[in-house]
Amino acid sequence: MTDAGHILDGALVRGSGETVSRLSPVSREPLAQAPLASAAQGEEAAAAATRAAPRMANLTLGERRAVLLDLAILLDNDGTELATQITLETGCPAAQALSLQIGSAVGLLRAYADLLSDHAFVEEREGRRGGRTRIIRHPVGVALGIVPWNVPVFLACMKLAPAIAAGCPILLKPSPESADSMGLFARMLATLDLPAGGVQSLTGGAALGRQLVDDGRFAKISFTGSTAAGRQVGIAAAQRFARTTLELGGKSAAILLDDLDPSGWPAELWLAMFQNNGQVCGAKSRILVPHARMAAFEDGLAAMIEGLTVGDPRSGGTQIGPVVSLAAAKRIDEAVSADVAAGGTRLTQAASRSEQTCAFVTPSLLRPSRGDAPIVLDELFGPVVTVQPYESEDEAVRMANDHRYGLSGSVWSADPERAARLAVRLKTGTVGINTKKILDFGSPFGGWRDSGVGRELGPEGINAYTETTTLILP
Ligand code: NAD
Repeated sequence: MTDAGHILDGALVRGSGETVSRLSPVSREPLAQAPLASAAQGEEAAAAATRAAPRMANLTLGERRAVLLDLAILLDNDGTELATQITLETGCPAAQALSLQIGSAVGLLRAYADLLSDHAFVEEREGRRGGRTRIIRHPVGVALGIVPWNVPVFLACMKLAPAIAAGCPILLKPSPESADSMGLFARMLATLDLPAGGVQSLTGGAALGRQLVDDGRFAKISFTGSTAAGRQVGIAAAQRFARTTLELGGKSAAILLDDLDPSGWPAELWLAMFQNNGQVCGAKSRILVPHARMAAFEDGLAAMIEGLTVGDPRSGGTQIGPVVSLAAAKRIDEAVSADVAAGGTRLTQAASRSEQTCAFVTPSLLRPSRGDAPIVLDELFGPVVTVQPYESEDEAVRMANDHRYGLSGSVWSADPERAARLAVRLKTGTVGINTKKILDFGSPFGGWRDSGVGRELGPEGINAYTETTTLILP
């Protein structure tokens, strides 16, 4: 693999920053030996993006669509190597990687290309004080997209697609954990028919992220990552009134209604909890079950979870692989042990020998020690879920909503209409009915409360990369 892992001012370049050394959580062999980008390269990229801004703004809508569709074709044709690399970096099971990591990005790029064909960059309204108004949506300017490691290509596309659609240059700042896969992706980006500096990608750590967030040349910052880092980004961006979208952590509830059959769960229920080994922002990690059927539901959930195939994620039959690192596995195991020590009950079997070698966390169901225990309040980002009883649908809604996070949610029932009536009462960005899906490319996605600020996807996603001017017409 080449170590020219970044794209800077139209060229593939080698990083001039530190060299990271990390073992794959899967193979235990070294990953990501390519050097990271340096502070000086961050500085150069900001200058190149600034130079590219007028030319990006002048691209026709047809040219913007063509770039999005070209990238979709590249990913569609050559995404397998990328998916395999992401499996090695994150533990994402191969059986999920091509669709979750790559297919989703292809779908998103095509959806934004479609949205562009009738997006309202200019809109006329009847004036409420007489006359008419005309609203012009201008490109916001140079954009910065900071992305985490868990779904790196898809999340990079969540940022670059609306930026290109709106006519903005964008610099991506992926995380060091995904240095190899984002190096492969940079090679695809380098072939796009865009002005130099139109799309750039510099992989680096939090220090590079902080430098770029503080750089006044970035008018727009779209950040996806943890709530703790997002808070720092939000505070720094507010100092200079940069426009921000913050897509942050979650601890989402799945409400199981009493008409479900615990001996035959809906097919996607386990994926709603454990897709990508639970390393999904919208994973359903709090399971709420009817008190009257608690024993049957707990037994049924435990049986489902114990039946999952844990193993090498490169093997096609594996449903649960390791998490991203030994440190993450240790943190998650310690959180479970702490709750068990505080009175919580582990309802699934503890780890078996072979699973403990790499960064495996045994998929677990836990009846927590208390409703406000850390295991219920904190995002674990691994294959561990809690189960709590509710007495009534009102109480289920209260329990789902009474939480600092509000990213996602789901309601599961034999009667989808009944589920939908309950779903509208959830104070969260997205609610799925009987599905693992946490978003749709054509509709807004984002969080309430500590899960973030702003929305991506759909027309709202394009508008997040624009500034408006309203003309008051006679
Ligand atoms: P993280 O916050 O540690 O890092 C995310 C990115 O931010 C990385 O590129 C990192 O280098 C950079 N960064 C960290 N601190 C920074 C700072 N102060 N200034 C600028 N950049 C900084 O998160 P992670 O561990 O990579 O990813 C997991 C988290 O991401 C989870 O909390 C998950 O829920 C969240 N996430 C959210 C969504 C969403 O759409 N809401 C999607 C995926 C992941």
